[in-house]
Amino acid sequence: MRFDLVTIFPEFFAGPLDHGIVRRARETGLIDVQMLDLRIFTKDRHRTVDDRPFGGGEGMVLKPQPLFEAVESLLGHSVGDAAGGNALQSKTAIVLMSAAGKLFTQETARRYAGLERVIFICGRYEGVDERVAEHLATEEISIGDFVLSGGELPAMLVLDAVTRLLPGALGNEASSQNESFSGAGGVAAAGGAVRGSGSTSPAPANAGEKDGVLLDFPHYTRPAEFRGWGVPEVLIGGNHAEVAKWRRAAALEKTRRNRPDLLG
Ligand code: SAH
Repeated sequence: MRFDLVTIFPEFFAGPLDHGIVRRARETGLIDVQMLDLRIFTKDRHRTVDDRPFGGGEGMVLKPQPLFEAVESLLGHSVGDAAGGNALQSKTAIVLMSAAGKLFTQETARRYAGLERVIFICGRYEGVDERVAEHLATEEISIGDFVLSGGELPAMLVLDAVTRLLPGALGNEASSQNESFSGAGGVAAAGGAVRGSGSTSPAPANAGEKDGVLLDFPHYTRPAEFRGWGVPEVLIGGNHAEVAKWRRAAALEKTRRNRPDLLG
């Protein structure tokens, strides 16, 4: 899978791309990550990527022209103009990172993992000329209800979440099935049986984003006693059915406590 990061700070990604699963995925060729310096597509001596906002107000706005040309150079064709059409390949997403975008979730990560290519547009300053959201990006994505100073960290976060879902990225495939937000198919989906809210049938395989989604169950490792704090007896007993039952109940309890919104 190919990722492109359009940014004014290409060096920003050196650290995050060089560790753990993302690093291994790059080394084995599972993913190909390219940074593209937005300033290459400026036309003036000062390599200006931003300008003052129409209508006045604080801050600077990223100009549309370098962003359009940067993405077009990656696609190998024009995305057109107001007069013409805008033909795009369906296996490519052009994602504008934006605090005003739609919320990124594990479901979004799963959808991207099915694509061939994701091009990230990293904003800076007050943001990006709206014509980029309207006519260049295929989607506008936020990583949460807070405002950061740039789109680089959000893009890296999305890249990481997508990469670990690609077959072969994790040592153990089950790791990405039995975890928070894994929904139908993982331990969380089995939560249909322990919900105890009147629903007796488990969530269907094509359950919606909120249906059957629980947080991960708590994990423990050695020592069995640390500073006087033990681990739940059932995990030491070796009874797999009891362990599975405890994990489902603990995942439900943790979801109730930390994220009641997920239980709707
Ligand atoms: N004026 C904008 C914030 C601009 S922050 C607003 O109020 O919505 C500068 C850049 O940081 C944005 O263009 C975007 O690319 C990135 N950014 C900030 N917060 C983000 C978030 N929660 N999710 C994704 N990108 C974000």
